[in-house]
Amino acid sequence: MEESFDLIVVGGGAAGFMAAITAAEEGTPSIAVLEETTKTLEKVRISGGGRCNVTHACWDTHELAINYPRGEKALLGSFSRFSTGDAIDWFKKRGLELKTEEDGRIFPKSNSSTDVIKCLKKSLSSLGIKCLISTKVESIKQFSDHTFKVECKNKKSFFAKQVLIATGGNPSGKKIAHHLGHKLITAVPSLFTFKLNEKWLTSLAGISIDKVNLTLIANKKEFKEFGRVLITHWGLSGPAILKLSAFAARDLNLDKYKSNISINWVNKDFHEVNKILEDYRLNFSNISLKKHYPFNYIPRRLWVSFLNNLGIEDNLKWSSLSNIKKAALCNILTRSKHLIVGKGPFGEEFVTAGGINLNEINPKSMESLICKRLYFAGEVMNIDGITGGFNFQHCWTSGWIAGKAIARNSKIFENLKSSRE
Ligand SMILES: Cc1cc2nc3c(=O)[nH]c(=O)nc-3n(C[C@H](O)[C@H](O)[C@H](O)COP(=O)(O)OP(=O)(O)OC[C@H]3O[C@@H](n4cnc5c(N)ncnc54)[C@H](O)[C@@H]3O)c2cc1C
Repeated sequence: MEESFDLIVVGGGAAGFMAAITAAEEGTPSIAVLEETTKTLEKVRISGGGRCNVTHACWDTHELAINYPRGEKALLGSFSRFSTGDAIDWFKKRGLELKTEEDGRIFPKSNSSTDVIKCLKKSLSSLGIKCLISTKVESIKQFSDHTFKVECKNKKSFFAKQVLIATGGNPSGKKIAHHLGHKLITAVPSLFTFKLNEKWLTSLAGISIDKVNLTLIANKKEFKEFGRVLITHWGLSGPAILKLSAFAARDLNLDKYKSNISINWVNKDFHEVNKILEDYRLNFSNISLKKHYPFNYIPRRLWVSFLNNLGIEDNLKWSSLSNIKKAALCNILTRSKHLIVGKGPFGEEFVTAGGINLNEINPKSMESLICKRLYFAGEVMNIDGITGGFNFQHCWTSGWIAGKAIARNSKIFENLKSSRE
């Protein structure tokens, strides 16, 4: 005979765990988490380079919400209920101490994602929640009394009064939601690096420059970003590039990842740079361009590459720099143009943009507006953030809200049952 649960959570990731734990703590009597693979919380383990960037030190809900290229508006209300501070307290109460780094990213004090996993697993098992691995959910049917039958690939099936789908970017959860009546927003990658076919730049792999201004044109729209850029053997990466890829994810996809990017390496306009170079011509006339140059935040290897690329001898004295070459140098420093020829290697992207349409989810409960007693949490929804801990924060927030709402419903079912008896 099939087992019955008050709640079945499909997907043993961050969002699924948070929802199951919250629902159990708030009184939902029997819960099972069904996980397709042999390991739960696998993304938590690999996240943040093995350190798990749990959340971000952002205390204002508006400021927090703007870090989500998709979902900003819906998240304003959600964050007013469960935000960064709540996530920190939540983990602290369960024995996990977190620390904030200078750039605002929050990690476990131990710098190990294993401790986040231990904390979540311990909470789950102490509440008697069943966790079934190697159990891929293939289909979910809803009966006229709104209860569900959950059918799995391993031929097991279960009954549930409520179901939460927390299958992340994996297409299978979205397919199930689609069969239950939901419209899907096509998934495209977000948070990826840019591929360039410019040897002179990619040969400088490893160089990172702060305070770079980027202007991307994708699908005829302009996107601007400012921050650190890392040159890789592949092209461009670093926080500013990843952020740009997130905000332009859909437009880059429409452009088939062939778009133009303009880079201002020195955070100054053409005329300011021209003035600085003129001063150098006057004041350092006898010194070579390679030996002494302005913008000391530009690594020498990159500066020399700029010179070589423009056909300027690096031993040329400042006094011999022609006006034409000076203008070319101003151009490359303030508006160097590059053609993006693709995105970083497949599978390198961190999250998917797209998923369950937010118009079909009640943001106060995460319950489907299409299918009663069906809930969503985490990346399966059309919400994604930039790097820095924002994606997990959304998992904690949506999982917590869904868990609370599910527990409220469980109480209603219990009351109904006892009033009938
Ligand atoms: C390399 C990498 C590093 C990252 N680092 C960070 C970071 O430091 N900070 C941050 O905020 N974000 C980070 N992210 C993003 C973050 O990991 C995700 O946003 C987050 O894991 C999403 O959680 P989720 O619970 O929604 O989905 P997931 O973590 O993807 O969990 C979904 C689970 O559902 C299971 N599943 C799928 N389909 C089925 C099915 N049909 N039946 C049963 N089970 C199913 C999957 O196997 C999986 O275990 C990183 C992502 C990557 C790839």
